[in-house]
Amino acid sequence: MRLKLARILFTLVLTLTICSSSQAWGGLTALRLSYEGLIRSEFEYDLGQTTVLIALYGSTKSPLLFFNMHDDENTAVEAAMDILPESGGSLLSLEHSGERLIQFSLNGIVYRFDPNRIFTGTGARLTLERYGPFSIEAFEVVRAFAQHLVEHYGLMERPVIVTVHNNTEGTYSAESYLPGAEYAGDAREVYLHPAADPDDFFFVTDSRLFELLKEKGFNVVLQDNQRVTDDGSLSVLAGKAGIPYVNVETQHEHLQEQKRMLRALYEVLPSVESPSE
Ligand SMILES: [Zn+2]
Repeated sequence: MRLKLARILFTLVLTLTICSSSQAWGGLTALRLSYEGLIRSEFEYDLGQTTVLIALYGSTKSPLLFFNMHDDENTAVEAAMDILPESGGSLLSLEHSGERLIQFSLNGIVYRFDPNRIFTGTGARLTLERYGPFSIEAFEVVRAFAQHLVEHYGLMERPVIVTVHNNTEGTYSAESYLPGAEYAGDAREVYLHPAADPDDFFFVTDSRLFELLKEKGFNVVLQDNQRVTDDGSLSVLAGKAGIPYVNVETQHEHLQEQKRMLRALYEVLPSVESPSE
């Protein structure tokens, strides 16, 4: 959060403020030129009586979009921002509390959910129930938010969906998908490079991406798109829809490694932009 705040504060305001009335720019509250020379667009989205900010760096027209959905994963944001000028892509980032979970008020009740668990109905219900109260009204608010993210930013129309995440040492890693581990049933294949930190890995839904990134010497996990647990994460939605999806995940503070991974992904992407056989 501190990093994001600093970026906003150091933003050179272009003073181009647009009201939210225009249909094409629904919800857009400001357009700014960030100090990296990237256009920052801010969209406000109301979850009940709570507003979250959807920030977009770069152009919506760029085919390559990096999606940061956890507000406490700042290394991922920094890595994506750093390589945007060379990749020509864009970065979509949810900004609210600096925490992983999003909290919102609806009719006097406070609800909480994980933004990467709302892309299916089953997941949205489970994540609300896990972190607080559940109601049909809150469920509909959360599902509408997921639909907005998918449709407004054309996530399913892109040749590949790319998310950027960070994790903590010794918890979730590529090893979590090995036989006998917690998420073994969600993976079709796991490749661990002997020299790589298991916390730094690609999680993909496409076997071509798996092979290409493995050949480059990275840890890679291939989701089992048929058997994967429906937890509402974006990879589940992409896997069911047959859309190539990549999560570029590193441990917090592994900035150089995350940039190296993003560059490697950028190199292999042209090979997967053609339809799968
Ligand atoms: Zn995350």
